[in-house]
Amino acid sequence: MIKKTPKKAAQKTAPIPDLSNHLRYFEDRRDDIVQTIRQLVEVESPSDNKAGVDRLGSLLAGRFEKLGGHAKFHRVADFGDHLQVDFPGRRGKPVLLLGHLDSVYPLGTLATMPCRVDKGRLWGPGAFDMKSGIAFMLHAIEALRVWHGDNLPRPVTILLVSDEEVGSNTSRRITESVARNCSAVLVLEPSHGPKGAVKTARKGVGEYLLKITGKAAHSGLDFEKGESAIVELAHQILAISKLTDLKRGLTLNVGKVQGGTRSNVIPAEASAVIDARIARMKDATGIDRRLRSLKPVNRKCKLQITGGINRPPMERTPVVTELYRKAAAIAKILGWNLEEAAVGGGSDGNFTAGLGIPTLDGLGGVGEGAHAPHESILISELPRRVALLAALIESV
Ligand SMILES: [Zn+2]
Repeated sequence: MIKKTPKKAAQKTAPIPDLSNHLRYFEDRRDDIVQTIRQLVEVESPSDNKAGVDRLGSLLAGRFEKLGGHAKFHRVADFGDHLQVDFPGRRGKPVLLLGHLDSVYPLGTLATMPCRVDKGRLWGPGAFDMKSGIAFMLHAIEALRVWHGDNLPRPVTILLVSDEEVGSNTSRRITESVARNCSAVLVLEPSHGPKGAVKTARKGVGEYLLKITGKAAHSGLDFEKGESAIVELAHQILAISKLTDLKRGLTLNVGKVQGGTRSNVIPAEASAVIDARIARMKDATGIDRRLRSLKPVNRKCKLQITGGINRPPMERTPVVTELYRKAAAIAKILGWNLEEAAVGGGSDGNFTAGLGIPTLDGLGGVGEGAHAPHESILISELPRRVALLAALIESV
């Protein structure tokens, strides 16, 4: 009797392809990859500069279309347009390659931090986070077309958003709806640490604003009539900090405080901005409730708290683990041990993992100094990282 294939087995990923030529292919093209990254770094694209981000978007749309992709923009008024490119493929649902066009560096940074090759590294603003990752997408797809013809082994969708560095407010909905049609999400954000680990867990992120209202008075004439919002804020900062639970991966950081007008006035206003990080989604409601139920120590002061968790954690679920194992098996054949890491920072991969879609993050360059003057990537690592991406597209 022939057994019906169970549904789960039908969704199993494809076998790992023959990789004997993959590494050699990209080693031969290492300088081209460096050139592409340089081209992308030299188009400055700060999140708050629509013209710059759009310039990078149209350059990339042109390059992806030359490779047979269909490019379209999701228009945004205040930020750059989000770029989506679809490539046809032979079987199954598309795999999503996810990244962002924007960088944290203000316009003009290239003047003091020029893109350059030195000491085996490519240096420049956004080289690591994440223009190298975008270059990997271009070169992996170009290779797949050489190896497989115009029709890729599977459909590929590329989504490059314009506002990841400032919270992804205009792109989150688009990322989630595109990801829902995809079988897996490969995030080309920077890898972790000197060994280039991929990221299988990221914390969820929230931001809250605490406003305190007290009562102003002259500190010399009417001291007793005043209610100090700053003293109240000091109590609240300690109470909030005590909610941190390192063992649970739950942290609260009062990252910015403001208050008062001058030294001889009892301050009527004070406020704090709080960053909250959670390792598990089930901690989201708990921490939200505890922040919202903070009580004033001085009953004559009023507390008002707004905000919430805006990125769910990317948890190391079985589907994430399975995708990591596949990547590690490919890396092993290519000749290295691909490690995994859990990190505190969030990315757009948090959204797709939150929907239950297999997501692997940190597949981009190996380097250091993201968002810093020494931002750079290791050139020697480029060929095998692009080979890994190409093989993952072939086999997830
Ligand atoms: Zn990034």
